Amino acid sequence: MDFVVPPKCPICKNIYTTERKPYILQPCCHGLCKDCIKALRDHEGDNCKCPQCRETIIEEKPNFELIELLPDLTVAPFYTDKLLELTDIIGAVVTIGAEVEMFSKIIVDRIVYKSQIKEVPHSKRNWTEGDKKVLKRLVLDIKGIILVSDIEFTNIVKWIEVLSFPEHIETYLVSKTVQMFEKKNFLKLREAIWLMEILPITV
Ligand SMILES: [Zn+2]
Ligand SMILES: [Zn+2]
Repeated sequence: MDFVVPPKCPICKNIYTTERKPYILQPCCHGLCKDCIKALRDHEGDNCKCPQCRETIIEEKPNFELIELLPDLTVAPFYTDKLLELTDIIGAVVTIGAEVEMFSKIIVDRIVYKSQIKEVPHSKRNWTEGDKKVLKRLVLDIKGIILVSDIEFTNIVKWIEVLSFPEHIETYLVSKTVQMFEKKNFLKLREAIWLMEILPITV
């Protein structure tokens, strides 16, 4: 099953939406989302540098050409729609509540990458680039949830369990979740959660 991957902000890895608008930086022309430029401006004010090339940002403008191409996700979030499509295949009628909506990306990824996830070897040393890519995706899904919400750790762990990953993958994802929560709490005390959005994820 292939889904068209919508364009993402290269910094926070969230898909651009009509809410999370894409912005273009001048003069370097790198792109990022409204939330990321806001976080940078709030923190660095006039001395903002592009997170990708470190060039000083003179100004930022909405990327109107890209905005026109975006589906209206404020009406129906992309992954919630995908999730509904998938449940449609099963023939079930479902209503998606707010918390399920928040988890819809990881649920969709769990279903779409089912066969790859099953093949991921137990030993990390044997992971292929493809394995790492899928796992990174799952970790980023969790990171997104941690960043946009105040969800409790035990709640995310429950969700990971519910998604019934193979045991070693579950252990891996839970340990990554622990790390991300520790980072978030550390950065929160320093009013620097925005840093977490910018820093890359290692698998
Ligand atoms: Zn962003
Ligand atoms: Zn740049």
